[in-house]
Amino acid sequence: MAATYDAIVIGSGHNGLTCACYLAKAGLKVLVLEQYHSIGGMTNTEELTLPGFQSDTHAFCIQVANFSPALHELQLARYGFELIYSDPCFSHVFPNGRSISVRRNVDETCQSIAQFSKTDSATWRGLFERFLTVKDQIDASINSPPPSFADQSSALQRVPGGLDEYRFQLQTLRSWCHEMFEADETKALFGSWDLHVGTSPDDVGGASMAWLFTMVIQHFGNNVVKGGMRNLPLALAGFLEEHGGEIQTDARVDNIIVENGKAIAVRLAGGEEIEVGTLVASNVDPQQLVLHLLGEDRVGTNLAKKMRQYELGESVMVVYLALDSPVEFKAGPLAGQSVYVHPTPASVDYFSRLFHEVRGGFLPSEPFCLVCNDSAGDPTRVPSGKGLLKLVVQPVPYIIRGDATGRVKGRTWNEAKEPFADYVIEMLTRDYIPDLQNKILKRVVHSPKDLEELMPSAPQGTITHGAFLPYQMGSMRPIPEMGQYRSPVSNVYLCGSGSHPGAGVTMAPGRNAAQIIYQNLNLNFAKTFPTH
Ligand SMILES: Cc1cc2nc3c(=O)[nH]c(=O)nc-3n(C[C@H](O)[C@H](O)[C@H](O)COP(=O)(O)OP(=O)(O)OC[C@H]3O[C@@H](n4cnc5c(N)ncnc54)[C@H](O)[C@@H]3O)c2cc1C
Repeated sequence: MAATYDAIVIGSGHNGLTCACYLAKAGLKVLVLEQYHSIGGMTNTEELTLPGFQSDTHAFCIQVANFSPALHELQLARYGFELIYSDPCFSHVFPNGRSISVRRNVDETCQSIAQFSKTDSATWRGLFERFLTVKDQIDASINSPPPSFADQSSALQRVPGGLDEYRFQLQTLRSWCHEMFEADETKALFGSWDLHVGTSPDDVGGASMAWLFTMVIQHFGNNVVKGGMRNLPLALAGFLEEHGGEIQTDARVDNIIVENGKAIAVRLAGGEEIEVGTLVASNVDPQQLVLHLLGEDRVGTNLAKKMRQYELGESVMVVYLALDSPVEFKAGPLAGQSVYVHPTPASVDYFSRLFHEVRGGFLPSEPFCLVCNDSAGDPTRVPSGKGLLKLVVQPVPYIIRGDATGRVKGRTWNEAKEPFADYVIEMLTRDYIPDLQNKILKRVVHSPKDLEELMPSAPQGTITHGAFLPYQMGSMRPIPEMGQYRSPVSNVYLCGSGSHPGAGVTMAPGRNAAQIIYQNLNLNFAKTFPTH
């Protein structure tokens, strides 16, 4: 008897759903299996604090997805997806009450930077002009399967300045900032963007990451999904279901059953087996796929060893705050209107100290919080007049070996998370947001342990399905043997952010994996999506 489904997608993160949509459009009968009770993975919106307060559970702002052809190829606007183009895009605030705001208009951004350095202001403009000249190349490289290492290196050697570009790709943030900027405030602004992907100022590859984030935002904005980030997966689900696809939630896949080198079924945690007609696409993190769903017996000792060595990156803690009214920043109203606020001292060394403490297992003495101002970005997410913030505290240790705050006694996350959250909020109130403490109506804290429990694709409470390191990027992501969305089993593909171009709301791994699958099934991607 023929299987009911041609393709089974494991995980309904936005990449799993994106891949599923492209497969359904090609006429495949697709089933998406999701372990959580709702879809979206790290793109979800939930009432986590109080009724009527809609928090984006994980991702809040769209940066790289602004490049994505999927937005129009899958006609997401038809299914309720709409962006709010907020301004300022983000603000960086300092303990002395001064700040830099990156605005939609580059002239206004430059004016803000010029408060600290006219040279840095001109440098920002120059960097942005350079971005505009290479934007289409960046778009193509994000939204296509990665070239092989040999092709990539020979291309770099062929073009004038190619090796300078290669140097920049490897350069640390500290090295680049010293070459490029004079004000400590400007350097801190770039340094804080590397924290989004768990990169310290002294890690290789940090410079290009900070440049890319900031320039993408200067060009496209730091956009919020109207009504909540969950409207992205809901729009994808709308497209999928209209093309005959199905989604099952509360359906955790425990095993991929392989016979004669091919996946023939998946087994759910409850024991049910679902036959695979043609292929499986895995949206889960690569370690879970290889070590758990396939298993060492199937993939072999060598590959299993490589996946155990795969670096996961840094853990995060998340604090959700329902507020009696919107907060006011010491730095003034522009910070209060910003969807993202980065509060830090004006120092690259601050970031190094933070990573030094956390990588040594210590709760950090001066934690970094990405302040996401949900209600400033989209006031419909709260009852009238109220406020809603999310603090993404990153990095934090997964195993707590010590405490640089001097205030937290517990060494398990269950014991430590509330006292550590108290410390974070006291620090923010003292240095950056004087009315924060008094406005909190309800607080909910998710430690790294909570995060991995809620979502197995966030191992150790990490958010990137594998660290952003040059040796885990491009065709080497997650590992060279699996660098083209391929797994050790010929009809099992990777379609999540453990593949090129990595984490973030990008839709790119899902769409790129679909391109490879189309090729292997002799389907014509360009013909199915003529704008491609
Ligand atoms: C707190 C936080 C804030 C963030 N902020 C931003 C931001 O503002 N902007 C941005 O661009 N990015 C942000 N990110 C990163 C971004 O959200 C992720 O990189 C991206 O959404 C990952 O998408 P994905 O589809 O590849 O994987 P995921 O979203 O991780 O999806 C994987 C799915 O697989 C499911 N799953 C796992 N195991 C199984 C199993 N065995 N069986 C069935 N289902 C399974 C999971 O439940 C999940 O739904 C943030 C992440 C976090 C955690």
